[in-house]
Amino acid sequence: MNYRISQRAASLSPSLTLAIDAKAKQMKAEGLDVVGFGAGEPDFDTPQHIKDAAVKALADGFTKYTPSSGIPELRQAIADKFKRENGLTYKPSQVIVSCGGKHSCYNVILATCQEADEVIIPAPYWLSYPEMVKLAGAKPLILQTTDKTEFKLTPDQLRVAITPRTRLLIFNSPSNPTGSVYTPEEIKAIGDLCVEKGVLIMSDEIYEHLLYDGAKHKSVASFSQAHYDHTIVVHGFAKAWSMTGWRLGFLAAPEPIAKAIDAVQSHSTSNPTSFAQKGAVAALTGPQDHLPQWLAEYDKRRSYAWKKLNSIPGISCVNSKGAFYLFPNISKTGLKSTDFCAKLLEQEKVAAVPGIAFGADDYIRLSYATSMANIEKGLDRLERFCKNLLKKS
Ligand SMILES: *Cc1c(COP(=O)(O)O)cnc(C)c1O
Repeated sequence: MNYRISQRAASLSPSLTLAIDAKAKQMKAEGLDVVGFGAGEPDFDTPQHIKDAAVKALADGFTKYTPSSGIPELRQAIADKFKRENGLTYKPSQVIVSCGGKHSCYNVILATCQEADEVIIPAPYWLSYPEMVKLAGAKPLILQTTDKTEFKLTPDQLRVAITPRTRLLIFNSPSNPTGSVYTPEEIKAIGDLCVEKGVLIMSDEIYEHLLYDGAKHKSVASFSQAHYDHTIVVHGFAKAWSMTGWRLGFLAAPEPIAKAIDAVQSHSTSNPTSFAQKGAVAALTGPQDHLPQWLAEYDKRRSYAWKKLNSIPGISCVNSKGAFYLFPNISKTGLKSTDFCAKLLEQEKVAAVPGIAFGADDYIRLSYATSMANIEKGLDRLERFCKNLLKKS
């Protein structure tokens, strides 16, 4: 039997972050003392009132199909959130609830991009973006940034990359994997250019609430009517409410794009899980007092890890201003990221994600969504690993 795989599927690289995570979990299951920095999810539990709302919905028999783009109550709560926190006015019909922020991104790309379109993606990027663009038949155009600009794309870099084929810019601040946060002025400059050139922006704002050192978030859609008209905002419940397993994301878009996404979703996944949506209503309308506690904890870990990393020979690291990642530069160790992470896992039982997965081979990604004890232990091992490396060379 010749199982011909479609070109679309065959063109994809499987997720390296998930592979590393699986390897680390397998080593743990074998009884090895592995420290995992690979996690792309909060280490806190979903707040109780959110779980209670979903449990109640189940008990009440809220277990059937809902409208494919989400229940009206949740779409309204999301529209209210955009108004309250971002100064953005959306009708509930412009809001689509999807099966995760990842699914929201995919919906946006499928609904707006096609063959011969180019999609600009600044690197280091969230590893799914280029693969989603390929799935849509369009062409990812990667623009490299480095730690010298805190991994921020400059308007000059963007200007020369835009061609008549450029359809979409994928923008992610605060960023996974670098933790960098664009200032409002920098976001406006990028947005201005997209408006001038007629390029759509998919703005992935899922880490909007996870900010440190007084960093401020501003949605690119909020600068003017023109910015609003060019932007699709993607968001989700995974990070700020620790609901990764619930599979719930959302987006807000200009009406024609929302309508197209509604059609795509109605023929692919249909609605996100009914009772999970009731939990999401509680997440948006209930108390938010978990967040300052989580932020204080992340901030402590971030400060410790950043200082420690910069004291390790061969490593340098710009500080993270958002999300829960640090993205240290390992180029002075003489190893590329895949080799570095494979050896680190083998010799010191520390799991980190090679930067090459995010389009940046001189770096590794460390998540500080893990306990302080783990961070201390893991970074001590990383220090020993680097000292040994530099001794040999
Ligand atoms: C976690 C994440 C998402 C969404 O994840 P879901 O689990 O699908 O909600 C989207 N974008 C980025 C950059 C992320 O890190």
